[in-house]
Amino acid sequence: MPKTLIDGHGRRITYVRISVTDRCNLRCVYCMPENQTFRPLPHLMTRDEIRRTAALLASFGVTKIRITGGEPTTRPDLVAIVRDLAAIGFPGGIALSTNGVLFPRMAHDLLAAGLTKVNVSLDAAEAEHFRKMARRDHFQPVLDSIDLALSLPFDSVKINAVVIRGFNDDQILPLAAMTHKKKLGVRFIEFMPFGNNDWKDADWIGWHEVRDRLVEAGYELTSVEKDLVAGPADEYRVRGPLGEHVGTLGFITPISDRFCDTCNRMRLTQDGFLKGCLFGHNDVDLLRPMRAGASDDELSAVVERAAAVKEERHPMFVGMNKNMLPLHARNMSEIGG
Ligand code: SAM
Repeated sequence: MPKTLIDGHGRRITYVRISVTDRCNLRCVYCMPENQTFRPLPHLMTRDEIRRTAALLASFGVTKIRITGGEPTTRPDLVAIVRDLAAIGFPGGIALSTNGVLFPRMAHDLLAAGLTKVNVSLDAAEAEHFRKMARRDHFQPVLDSIDLALSLPFDSVKINAVVIRGFNDDQILPLAAMTHKKKLGVRFIEFMPFGNNDWKDADWIGWHEVRDRLVEAGYELTSVEKDLVAGPADEYRVRGPLGEHVGTLGFITPISDRFCDTCNRMRLTQDGFLKGCLFGHNDVDLLRPMRAGASDDELSAVVERAAAVKEERHPMFVGMNKNMLPLHARNMSEIGG
């Protein structure tokens, strides 16, 4: 009888996001400060430690892995990590979240290693806005990266865009327009308050407003059924002012429509903590016992404990201000977005 991983609230965990580094080559305003310091390299999980953890997770019926960070492509052994995960076998796929800057250098190797899905973060469809959001000048390489990913036989290529009022909300329509001729899923993410980011409720835009702006601009959105291993986005087929779009639009709505009830995921931080909730504090250290020589059975018990203490729901809600939330020491790049 295969094992399953059920959390303390009866939800089955089938999807784990593995952060392979906290380092990044961008400094997106909502994610990390310009002067971010990084963990010493020996604190990060090694390739072997990631492989061993992933094998344990697979033995519990985890079917889908997303590799994230920090920026995973800054890690020299990323292709080897993907190859290891593919050898373990995750039928829901092995996905990568990347900012796209270094992706072209390894895209073919990642595909050959078994990567199935690519999400590129892109918050602007114009160079000037990109620089303002990412604090770096890598707009064209990221666009080239998206086109390269589309030209390769990945199962899906998606764009994630965090929307912040006054920063890039004028990019909603240009980003949506990218789906006209390209088979892309563009997903707008609600801006979340983390660590030391400068989140203010006045800057926050809920998905209803993003949708309304699209509708006012002549977009018709038709809901697409979610498949079983789908992530948190609601996806829509699109008819825009220029006709039917090849790609889709989506919304990731952690604040205005919490999807905690159906949450099927956990996170593994780059320093080896299992984290049940992006905003939770019940993190369980897996790496320390692993490095102390724990057996697979002992580590399985750690995995079960992490699921048991997974928080029921996160504390963000519409109308909050940042002071109402429990203090969160880590920003997204340190958790693994
Ligand atoms: N470097 C990779 C990338 O750019 O996709 C992976 C890590 S990044 C932290 C993962 C995702 O988290 C990105 O799509 C990013 O936009 C999102 N993210 C980071 N901080 C966020 C915040 N404060 N609110 C909403 N999304 C955030």
